[in-house]
Amino acid sequence: MTTDSACEKAKAELEEFLHDELCREDAADIRAHMATCADCSGEHAVGRVLTDAVKRACNETAPEDLRSTVLARLRDLQASH
Ligand SMILES: [Zn+2]
Repeated sequence: MTTDSACEKAKAELEEFLHDELCREDAADIRAHMATCADCSGEHAVGRVLTDAVKRACNETAPEDLRSTVLARLRDLQASH
């Protein structure tokens, strides 16, 4: 059974998780939660796609407006929960 507070924690730390900025224990907590929570794992899947898009945008000499569009979508995604 997942709890709302577990979802809040997972979503709050999702961005750090996607950027591999969490300590091993916190990352393991989120991974374990996503294994049991379709909502958070779905959000992670979307976040992973966007994060990869940002990484590509940053590695290539992407137009600045594309980069900010992707970043804005990431923020919208997080703000909507
Ligand atoms: Zn959850």
